[in-house]
Amino acid sequence: MPTATDLRTLIDALALVDHHCHGVVTDELDRDGFEELMTESPFPPPPGTSHFDTPFGLVVRRWCAPLLDLPAHCEPERYLDRRRELGAAEVNRRLLRAAGTELLLVETGYQPQAILEPDELAAAAGAAAAEVVRIEAVMERTLAEAESADAFAAGFGARLAERAASAVGLKTIVAYRGGFAFDPAPPGRAEVVEAAGRWLSRSAPGQLTDPTLLRFGIWTGVELASQRHLPIQLHSGLGDTDLTLHLANPSLLTDLIKRLQPLGVDLTLLHCYPYHREAAYLAAVFPNVYLDVGLALNYTGPSAARVLAETMELAPFTKHLYSSDAFGLAELYHAGALLFRHALTEVLAGWVGQDVCDLDGALRIARLIASENARRLYHLTEASTRDITC
Ligand SMILES: [Zn+2]
Repeated sequence: MPTATDLRTLIDALALVDHHCHGVVTDELDRDGFEELMTESPFPPPPGTSHFDTPFGLVVRRWCAPLLDLPAHCEPERYLDRRRELGAAEVNRRLLRAAGTELLLVETGYQPQAILEPDELAAAAGAAAAEVVRIEAVMERTLAEAESADAFAAGFGARLAERAASAVGLKTIVAYRGGFAFDPAPPGRAEVVEAAGRWLSRSAPGQLTDPTLLRFGIWTGVELASQRHLPIQLHSGLGDTDLTLHLANPSLLTDLIKRLQPLGVDLTLLHCYPYHREAAYLAAVFPNVYLDVGLALNYTGPSAARVLAETMELAPFTKHLYSSDAFGLAELYHAGALLFRHALTEVLAGWVGQDVCDLDGALRIARLIASENARRLYHLTEASTRDITC
């Protein structure tokens, strides 16, 4: 019979499936470059201060520093000096491996700077990888190459299917492009052609924000998802300043969720904070809704256990997934995994202490959230992932 102390050891040893993450940068980062990647804000901190003065900054100094052979809580300048001394490749390798992830589902639609591709990321992490394709990225490229609005409307479905031929999931960032208060019905072909025509006539199209085209992207994704049993990831809740927070509340997706449920299309609500309780409710009542609090654990740092506990108030244990949502910094991989393990241990040890479950039951819940739910939801078999050994 395992003891309470064993719970931490057992959860620390669980191999994770990170169902939503991105590449990390390979450049050597100076202080500004590192601090820009520590936050979702595109703005600098107040003059004379630092993004290290945040919950995530504390986490880097406490838990990433020892992996670079530094004392816990070391000063930011010393941390960054040591990071440059070791070099980005070695730092990435140490931090990615420390996360203890066996499988990375890498979303490849966001590449504002040079980052590791899924195979390279997997090699650095000593893990396997599979790809998640961002619908809007494919649509922007298709529009840029379209010869006419009609050709775009007729060809986008095939283009998305081709791009996602070996993917295990799709992703939409509609939260960033106007939010979730959109008409949940699929647009008609004439509406799409008209909207595409308007978009193509713009002198500088830029980021896709047309509501009809965004709905067309989602519904084209739904059709593909339904045929190939691909879950669709939706960024929800906190993110960068392109979104208006209350319009990223997943409760606004209720009508869309109801339309997709009979089609058998599963949605995963990513991050969700501060609407993780709303997301947990949706996961509890709709069979096609799953959730994670990935990004929120990194950015709430020392308070991550409270966020996870609030999510676990209502979300079925079978609907909750692990993600780091790491982008840019390998620190986000290590910290995301470590905070998740610490938070999960704290919540489950409390439940064992109250005798609402025994240790075996607690460990079963931990396994579901750490990897088993993602493997079931994404149909992850050996063949669907690229196994990289190094
Ligand atoms: Zn992401």
